[in-house]
Amino acid sequence: MKHVNETKINSLLKIEATGKNIDDVLEKTTCLERLTLEESAKLLSVTDSVLLKKIYNAAAYVKNTIYGRRVVMFVPLYISNLCANTCLYCGFASNNKLTVRKKLTILEIKEQTEILLKRGHKRILMVAGETSSSKENIDYYVNGVKAIYSVDYKGNKIKRVNVNLAPMSVDNFKKLKEAGIGTYQIFQETYHEKTYRKLHIAGAKSDHDNRLDAIGNAFKAGIDDVGIGPLLGLYYHRFEILAMLMHIEYLEKTYGLGPHTISVPRIEPAPGSVYALNPEYPLTDEEFKKLVAVLRLSVPYTGIIMSTRETADLRDVLVNLGVSQISAESKVTPGGYEENSIHNDKLERQFSVNDQRSLDEIVQSLMSQGFIPSFCAACYRKNRTGGHFMDLAKPGKIKHICDINALITLKEYLDDFAKPEIKKIGYKLIEECKAKLDKSSLDMLENFFQNIDNGVRDKYV
Ligand code: SAM
Ligand code: SF4
Repeated sequence: MKHVNETKINSLLKIEATGKNIDDVLEKTTCLERLTLEESAKLLSVTDSVLLKKIYNAAAYVKNTIYGRRVVMFVPLYISNLCANTCLYCGFASNNKLTVRKKLTILEIKEQTEILLKRGHKRILMVAGETSSSKENIDYYVNGVKAIYSVDYKGNKIKRVNVNLAPMSVDNFKKLKEAGIGTYQIFQETYHEKTYRKLHIAGAKSDHDNRLDAIGNAFKAGIDDVGIGPLLGLYYHRFEILAMLMHIEYLEKTYGLGPHTISVPRIEPAPGSVYALNPEYPLTDEEFKKLVAVLRLSVPYTGIIMSTRETADLRDVLVNLGVSQISAESKVTPGGYEENSIHNDKLERQFSVNDQRSLDEIVQSLMSQGFIPSFCAACYRKNRTGGHFMDLAKPGKIKHICDINALITLKEYLDDFAKPEIKKIGYKLIEECKAKLDKSSLDMLENFFQNIDNGVRDKYV
C-alpha cells in the first residue's frame, strides 16, 4: 500500500523488547519526545504486567502534562445512511437489504441540531454514507454543515462542525472548507492492503489508494486539521498502529503536517453484517488499553478520540491513559436524536453503541474523577490549527489557554443545562481548579465568569 511499507512493519513486529529496552524508551517519553517506529514497536511488544504498568504510568504522565485534566466533548450527527459502497463490516453497506435508508432533509438536520443544542452540545461530528454522485454528495455535505451552523437555540449555537466523510477531490474539499468545517476525519479502516481489498468489495471505497490520498487532498485544499484512524478488528492491531504511525511520518514529510487527532474505533456488531459479528482480528480490552497508551507516548501532541463504541467503564479508564476527546449519547442513525423517535434504531443504525449514558451522566462521571469536560472550540475559531497549534502546543503554551477556556465552557454548561446535583459537583470542581491558577489567570477567569453571570456567552481566550 502506498505510503506504508508492509515489509518494514512485519520486521518491526518481530521485535521483542527487554525490560531495559522499555525503560530506555520510557525515559525518553518523560521529555514528551516523539518516538521512532522502532521504539513504538518495542512498547507494543510488551506483555509482561510489570512493564505494562510502567507504560500506563508513563502514558498517564504525558497525558496529564500536555492535556491537563481537560476532556473535550462532542456528539456525532448522522445525516444519511445512503451508501453506494459495500464495506463488509458496516450496517450501511449497499448490499444490506435490511437497513432502512434515510437521508435527512435540511429541515430535519436543523431539528436534530436543535435537540442537541438543548442538551448542551457545542461540537458536532457530521457523518454520512457516500452515494455514487460526487456532485450530489458535496452539495449535500456543504448544505448539511451550513444547516447545522445556522441553528440558534436561545443564543446557543454549534461552535464547530467536524466531519467524517468519504474522500473527495481538492475542489470539493475547498467547498467543505468554505462551509467552515473544523476537522476532516477519515479512517483508513485497515492499512493491510490484502485485507482492505477483501473487505471493500464494491463502490468508490474499494480503491484503497484513493482513500489513503484523501488527507493529502484535504491539505492541498487548505484544510490543515485532519483526523485519521484504523478500524480495529479488521487486521492485526499492532500492524495497524505501526502502519498508521508510518502514515503520519509520510504526511509530515510530504506536507509538513500530521493529523490533529487519531481515532481508535473498534469494530462492533452491525445490522446485516456477518463479518462484524465475528471479526477476524478481535482484540482484548487489555490489548486495546495498551495500544491507546502506546499511541499517547508515540505522538504526544496528537489528540486521541474515543467513541461510544467502548463501554463506560473502559472509557473512564482510557481518559487517564491518553484519550483527549470523547463523544456522548451518540446515535448512529440518521434522525436518531428525535425525541420519541419513530425511527427503528435497530434497522437504521450503523453499529452497536456500548456507552449509552446521557451527556449529563458522562459530564458527572468525568468530573467525579477530577476531569474538566470542555465544550471549547476556541483554537479553531482563532486559527490556532495545524502548524500554528503545534507551535503553541510543543512549548506547553496551549495548556493554560485551554484550561481557562475549558473552565469557561464548563461553567456555561453547568449554568444552562446541567441537573442540580451535577451543578453542585461541577461548581465544587471549578473552585478546586481556580485554587490552582496563578493570579493573572485567575483574574482573567473571574472576569469571564462575571460576564457569564451577566448573561454573556461564548467568550474565549
Ligand atoms: N462513509 C464514510 C466512510 O466510510 O468513510 C464516512 C462515515 S462511516 C459512517 C464512519 C466510520 O464508521 C467508518 O470509517 C468505519 O471505520 C466505521 N464503522 C463502520 N462499520 C463499523 C462497525 N461495524 N463497527 C464500528 N465502526 C464501524
Ligand atoms: Fe458506506 Fe462508510 Fe459504511 Fe462503508 S463504512 S458502507 S462507506 S457508510
